[in-house]
Amino acid sequence: MFYITVIKHYQSGKQMTVFQAKAFRNHEMVVFCDDAETGLKAIIAIHNTSRGPGLGGCRMWPYESEEEALQDVLRLSRGMTYKSALANLDLGGAKSVIIGDPKKIKTPAMMTAMAKFVDRLKGGYIIAEDVGTSLADMDLMREITPNVVGTTKGGSGDPSPATAYGVFVGLQASVQHKLNRKNLKGLKVAVQGLGNVGYNLCQQLHNEGVDLIVTDISEERIAQAVKDFGAKAVGIHDIYSQDADVFAPCALGAVINDDTIHQLKVSVVAGSANNQLYRSKHGEDLYKRGILYAPDYVINAGGVINVFYERSVYNKAVSYAHIGQIYDTLIEIYTLSEKHNIPTSEAADRLARRRFVSHNKHEDEPLDAVSKAR
Ligand code: NAD
Repeated sequence: MFYITVIKHYQSGKQMTVFQAKAFRNHEMVVFCDDAETGLKAIIAIHNTSRGPGLGGCRMWPYESEEEALQDVLRLSRGMTYKSALANLDLGGAKSVIIGDPKKIKTPAMMTAMAKFVDRLKGGYIIAEDVGTSLADMDLMREITPNVVGTTKGGSGDPSPATAYGVFVGLQASVQHKLNRKNLKGLKVAVQGLGNVGYNLCQQLHNEGVDLIVTDISEERIAQAVKDFGAKAVGIHDIYSQDADVFAPCALGAVINDDTIHQLKVSVVAGSANNQLYRSKHGEDLYKRGILYAPDYVINAGGVINVFYERSVYNKAVSYAHIGQIYDTLIEIYTLSEKHNIPTSEAADRLARRRFVSHNKHEDEPLDAVSKAR
């Protein structure tokens, strides 16, 4: 393990020390892991453990540079502190990244090496699946370290159904607040992405009599949604401009940006995708346009809430009751937003900061997305 000393600011390109970098501020610990035998190059970032151990997924991605990987892990670990705080979990924020294309270089030996590094942190970091890692990887890691969640053996398994349930509940809260509607029957929801979360969400919405408009890059997924839910299929670029009540982004990050925002005709944006706002200013833009935005890290917390319950004896009913509280948290955020005339994204951050201890005066500076790709 070693510490890096220089990092380039991702927008300006200016060189600065890690301790000066905006993304690094407030981090308790950043560990660089290098295992020559397996080719593992990983970074584990622990942002804040004032509420409990730092829990966060392990992302494997072909980053173009070590700096890009570092920026990503720092931003993501900070996000996990906010997410766990607003989900009322006794957890802190952390994340890890492995540099490389999982399809090309990932091996069981590499995952085992990663698990050994996690184990050396003695519970300060709890690892979970993320983009580029799988439940099978977590199962393998569990043989090396107890500090893994989201395993299939005795664990809670795939977090997607729990995430989808949280998004469903959060969408209900948003519609209730913005449109004063308890009943979703006849509501029009445009869903972007019919993957593990999006498809499950469609099923729940369909059960409530919602009219679905869907898109995906997979023709197969679209055909299935049309068959199962009577959904209306549209092209990937047309999803933003649909005449609908709700836009539910469940595919990619940064979909709320300068190109898309003026196309939206909906009253509510509520979906599972991470980092939906390309820049924090897009939260303000939504607010100014009168579109109610359900902050992504609040509405998509179902998965992390579910894996949290693995740390005792997993009980689905208890876990799902906790996920149901996303409804109340969003209402609290919307009320705060109205009271102070601030975007809901800012209200969420403010509320989160009340729930963890930070000694850094820069804690309230927003961090923008690094990449549109994830
Ligand atoms: P997934 O990979 O199963 O599904 C993503 C879907 O989006 C796929 O069907 C894919 O074909 C589609 N897609 C990709 N590019 C698209 C485009 N340009 N337009 C339309 N569709 C496109 O992923 P998932 O697990 O369902 O997660 C969806 C989103 O929710 C991701 O942003 C993820 O980070 C976030 N999220 C997921 C969880 C979870 O528990 N799975 C938890 C929190 C956040």
